[in-house]
Amino acid sequence: MKAQILNVGDEVLYGLTVNTNASYIASQLDILDIQIDEVNVVGDDEVKITKFVQDFLNSDCDILITTGGLGPTHDDFTKEVITKALGLELVEYKEAKKHLQKYFPNGMASVNNKQIYYPKGSKLLANPFGSALGCYLTYTNKHLFILVGPPVELHPMFENYVMPILQKITNIKKITKKYLLVGIREADLEEKLSPIYQKYPQIKMAPYAGLGTIRFVVSSTKDNEKIFRQANQELNEIFGDNLIGDAELSIEEHFVNLLKKKKMTVSTAESCTGGMLASMIVNVSGSSEVFGESVVTYSNEAKTKYLQVNPYTLKKYGAVSKETVSEMAKGLKFLTGCDIAIAISGIAGPTGGSKDKPVGLVHFGIQINETLYTDCYQFKGNRNMVRQRACVYALWKTICYLANH
Ligand code: ATP
Ligand code: MG
Repeated sequence: MKAQILNVGDEVLYGLTVNTNASYIASQLDILDIQIDEVNVVGDDEVKITKFVQDFLNSDCDILITTGGLGPTHDDFTKEVITKALGLELVEYKEAKKHLQKYFPNGMASVNNKQIYYPKGSKLLANPFGSALGCYLTYTNKHLFILVGPPVELHPMFENYVMPILQKITNIKKITKKYLLVGIREADLEEKLSPIYQKYPQIKMAPYAGLGTIRFVVSSTKDNEKIFRQANQELNEIFGDNLIGDAELSIEEHFVNLLKKKKMTVSTAESCTGGMLASMIVNVSGSSEVFGESVVTYSNEAKTKYLQVNPYTLKKYGAVSKETVSEMAKGLKFLTGCDIAIAISGIAGPTGGSKDKPVGLVHFGIQINETLYTDCYQFKGNRNMVRQRACVYALWKTICYLANH
């Protein structure tokens, strides 16, 4: 099957919004082996949208997926234009009315009224996170999905409602496994895995690199299930410590889940990451079970004031050193009484590096119960990338060390 993607919106066309919807949808279609024929962006332009839909109808493509322009404002008219281009009519949907009433419990504005109308015969696609519903319709032998623009609304809509429909119409029974890998570079992973790629040509394997993490997707058709399982077993062995778990969860979610399971608490003492690690942990719903307090100790004075780091240590070894992070972790553990104390101190750059301590160098002190572990790594990237990678690394190392506790 072949698909076209059409992302609608002036802000996408002019580059004010990065078109992440296109890459997201493309990666989802890839899971189902749906071939992507074209990806296009048009502004809020009735003529252009109409022309695109007509070209799609005359093409040999089976599926059209649009995003954007379903909201209540004057420039949101994707479904109106598509309905007209198909020669259909818009009708009132009770389902949409109910959704809006629930979404706006204090009454909706009159501009929202147009969000009650959808092309006749279409199936509405729920959106728990926004006012606009998506819709799916078939026209002759073509399938059209008209979807929302905001990624936070689009992703759940796509995964929960669009994927099952696509699975049905493509009739491909696929099996997929998504792994979250940390602490390995994409190039090193590629080298490690090249014999596996050759051994299992019928299994699709693809890494998607993020900041400090790699999502590794393995998929095959259902009739290869036995080989799929065997390949996954071998992958698990090769991944080893670098495998955090399922990629459906983020590393911080895996971390919080692990601590909940072990009934352990954590605190962080952060210098160069400035609270970023604490913020990542708090981002996970339910983290209060494992996280109570943390400190940002950016200056040397703060490291001494809150964590009792010896000024002599700071003077002799510097703030970015094994000795300092060790004292930070110990001090933090004493201060908060947590089970796991994570201390981070590094040079995020772009200035402040030296020959001995280059930009990107980060030291970690991780104390779990009575055992202190230390680590250091030199991260690549700009200031923010170094900070983010350092947080991911700290979580990964802590997860690894927790295997001993
Ligand atoms: P809303 O109800 O929010 O108006 P909508 O379906 O009408 O939703 P748009 O108005 O087109 O969607 O876009 C709303 C926001 O969604 C944009 O401002 C942008 O932040 C985001 N967005 C839209 N299209 C894309 C895209 N292709 N990629 C990433 N983000 C997008
Ligand atoms: Mg809008």
